[in-house]
Amino acid sequence: MTKIIGLTGGIGSGKTTIANYFKSKGIPVYIADDEAKNILQTKEVQLEIRTVFGNTVFSDDKVDKNKLAEFVFSNPEKLKILNSIIHPKVKNHFDNWVEKQQNFPFVIKEAAILFESGSYKLCDKIITIVVPLDERIQRVIHRDTTSYENVMRRINNQWTDEQRMSKSDYIIYNSDLEIAKKQANSILKILKNQ
Ligand code: ATP
Repeated sequence: MTKIIGLTGGIGSGKTTIANYFKSKGIPVYIADDEAKNILQTKEVQLEIRTVFGNTVFSDDKVDKNKLAEFVFSNPEKLKILNSIIHPKVKNHFDNWVEKQQNFPFVIKEAAILFESGSYKLCDKIITIVVPLDERIQRVIHRDTTSYENVMRRINNQWTDEQRMSKSDYIIYNSDLEIAKKQANSILKILKNQ
């Protein structure tokens, strides 16, 4: 049976960067955030979002991700509702995707909120990417041309590195990408031998 390896880390830790590295090594990689974004724009979900959040989170008849994020991050109850709409659908989509990867001994599921969503419980092993907080903040401010306050608000809605590390099997330290890739290779070697 194909094993599920969870890949997570704080905002700006390099999840996408490392996920792409695993992909370049021929490992099937599922990017949960990308699929959640696609699911958000399906007609069925748009209808639910409009019912719960109203027209203010729509732009040009599409769910406006930034407006929605703005809305839910200042309202924990609404964040819970949003999660209850999206998470089961992503899980379903992921399960169908895994079914199609049965020729592979393992796949990687990259998810920013692997722990917060509870989906870590369905992983066989978990890899967490760790980078000091100040470096992550600077990377995201630079990448998204956003403010310090915006990044902090997202960080405050997520688990800390310490919490993530305490529930992980492997850690990748990604202050230096070349070192991180070497660590990723070592983890791949272990996974392939299991
Ligand atoms: P998010 O949580 O916001 O989705 P992420 O964890 O997927 O972010 P990436 O988008 O992969 O993180 O990386 C964040 C930024 O940091 C990107 O601009 C990326 O190019 C850069 N980056 C990734 N790894 C390193 C590194 N080792 N050194 C310097 N910059 C890096």
